[in-house]
Amino acid sequence: MKIFTYSKASGTAAQAIQEATNKTDSAYIAGGTNLIDLMKDMVLTPAHLVDINGLNMSSVTKLDGGGVRIGALARNSDVANHPLIRENYPVLSRALLSGASPQLRNMATTGGNLLQRTRCSYFYDTASACNKRTPGTGCDAIDGYNRMHAVLGGSAKCIAVNPSDMNVALAALDANVFVSSGSGERKIRFVDFHKLPGNTPHIETVLEPHELITAIELPAAGFNKNWCYLKVRDRASYAFALVSAAVCLQMDGSRIKEARLALGGVGTKPWRASDVEKMLVGKTADEKLFKNIADMAMKSAKGYEHNKFKIEMGKRTIVRALKVAAGGVA
Ligand SMILES: Cc1cc2nc3c(=O)[nH]c(=O)nc-3n(C[C@H](O)[C@H](O)[C@H](O)COP(=O)(O)OP(=O)(O)OC[C@H]3O[C@@H](n4cnc5c(N)ncnc54)[C@H](O)[C@@H]3O)c2cc1C
Repeated sequence: MKIFTYSKASGTAAQAIQEATNKTDSAYIAGGTNLIDLMKDMVLTPAHLVDINGLNMSSVTKLDGGGVRIGALARNSDVANHPLIRENYPVLSRALLSGASPQLRNMATTGGNLLQRTRCSYFYDTASACNKRTPGTGCDAIDGYNRMHAVLGGSAKCIAVNPSDMNVALAALDANVFVSSGSGERKIRFVDFHKLPGNTPHIETVLEPHELITAIELPAAGFNKNWCYLKVRDRASYAFALVSAAVCLQMDGSRIKEARLALGGVGTKPWRASDVEKMLVGKTADEKLFKNIADMAMKSAKGYEHNKFKIEMGKRTIVRALKVAAGGVA
């Protein structure tokens, strides 16, 4: 690990941002469950860490006009088990509880989860070529062991997957991300927050340098009757998704009035399948429709030597998640 300096911000977000801006090559640290691993492996080598755990950004509160605000420092366990989330946004609760382990979820924060880096082994191995870690060096994953990699949204420069479970639910729920640069807060639609790799896979989000995530807001519609978060993985727990699907439906009997579908484990960013959602609206829920939707959702998927199986697995996951959601699980 490279030697670094450390300071703990307390008081306002603006003070933390100032502290980060004043130092060369600084990074925020929240739960540290991702950043410290990357620093130990020399994948990231910030010269200074600004610890933001002293900021007042941990609460989960109901918004006046409906909806919920989740502070960026709210721990994954606290969010998953909060009555407002469990009762109104069960798809988010389930997605969070399917990630990592209880100990990690007790440390991991909402802001940190949003920004967690890919688990691509070539990104972690500093001896490998990785355009995301070191721009311009190439991508060893494309012709390498790419079993965990993306089949949607990849480029000739990068096929690393976004590994977060929480992000899949936030994509389906149409969340907004609030970020601050010190001079005020701006709102970013969650689906616009992460970027596709294109030619610049090292630029993963629309965040400006030193911008601090302060909160996430969920709209009033929580889809607490017809929903499903289905995660398919190598082990029953403590494993990243091979494929996951978040489905939220509003039903009128057996007819679908509104539909949301987001995918994890398959995309270079949290994957919202907006196009196919429209095809569900107004239709009667049945297996034939769901199979058709699944085919359409994976139509642009591109498999590589070791991850082609994710295309069929993705389709089956979508069909099953739609069936569970349409059946009503609340
Ligand atoms: C063994 C293991 C298994 C895991 N399994 C899963 C899994 O199955 N599913 C899953 O979804 N996740 C999984 N995770 C990932 C885990 O959820 C993340 O490590 C965690 O959410 C990161 O949150 P953190 O607060 O610890 O972030 P940190 O490590 O503190 O920070 C991560 C990044 O976010 C930045 N950051 C943090 N907060 C802010 C902020 N407010 N504003 C701006 N930048 C910020 C940091 O600078 C850093 O770049 C696993 C992790 C481990 C170690």
